[in-house]
Amino acid sequence: MKIRIGLIFMKTPFDDLFPEPLFESPYFAHGTRRICLVCGSAKAETTLRTVTTEIFPICGNCSFNWNFYSYDSLKKIKPKQLMWNLAKFKLLHPFYDNPITIYKSLKRIKRWSTKMAAYMKRRKNES
Ligand SMILES: [Zn+2]
Repeated sequence: MKIRIGLIFMKTPFDDLFPEPLFESPYFAHGTRRICLVCGSAKAETTLRTVTTEIFPICGNCSFNWNFYSYDSLKKIKPKQLMWNLAKFKLLHPFYDNPITIYKSLKRIKRWSTKMAAYMKRRKNES
């Protein structure tokens, strides 16, 4: 998609022009029985969300890290370790979160992180 600003054409997609900052909220958009998707091994107490969607359900421990280290705490997520922790948690608590909800949340996380990475890369190139 090309956007015309004045006489300059920008080739970037409109979606990637603005960042989607996260903020912590006690309200769950997709059910209250959620697993923390930062560590994958505890029950979620709050969520990290953008203005429009819920991105990460997080536990108390990860919430502390979020308040202390902000986005750096999310950079430490290792996908393989997270999937392993989620599998272990689901074995111990089989009825705690719906696998479809987890899958959709992981897709939202992927979309959000890809978008933010593209935004940060462009910011770096511009400055
Ligand atoms: Zn956690």
